[in-house]
Amino acid sequence: MIRLDVLAVGNLQRDDEGKVFDAHSSSVLIRTDERTIVVDTSTKYMRPAIKTSFRQIGAFQKDVDTVVLTHSHYDHIGNNDMFENAEILVHPDEHGKIVGAKLLETDKELVPGVRIMHTPGHTKGSISVFIKADKRYVIAGDAVPRYGNYEKMTPPAINIDADLAVESIKLITRYADVIIPGHDPPFLVER
Ligand SMILES: [Zn+2]
Repeated sequence: MIRLDVLAVGNLQRDDEGKVFDAHSSSVLIRTDERTIVVDTSTKYMRPAIKTSFRQIGAFQKDVDTVVLTHSHYDHIGNNDMFENAEILVHPDEHGKIVGAKLLETDKELVPGVRIMHTPGHTKGSISVFIKADKRYVIAGDAVPRYGNYEKMTPPAINIDADLAVESIKLITRYADVIIPGHDPPFLVER
């Protein structure tokens, strides 16, 4: 059985000129028979919220054996040190920025029901986590940073390739019943 819990709901604020001044990513706990996985660790600001979530869920930080990073931007990696027993996995194209991380294989199952998909565009090495549980979930990181990117099929404001980024949003949308975006609450995909 796969259990999914959102440890922290991502958010993002812009100033009057549209410039981002505050960004904290979502952080998600996946518990399977094989592994206990955290996807993205958000920022130090979210640390108390993540700790509270563990207590409320009845899970323990020390039991986390795997941290998967959707990419290496600062607002997704700020609490890697909370999980001292975990190996940290990141796409080869993001690897240089994360000390001690191991390489993540994409388009492949990490454990049964949890597949890592390469979803580039925001960054070269952006990945998303596709999960088959009671519904089909995608933890998208900044491949889908906000609800509006899905709703309007617009690439993330920060991107290395806008067309590639939109292809990644389409790939995610085709699979998902529920998308957990990088910087918004989870939402349902309309069919
Ligand atoms: Zn990012």
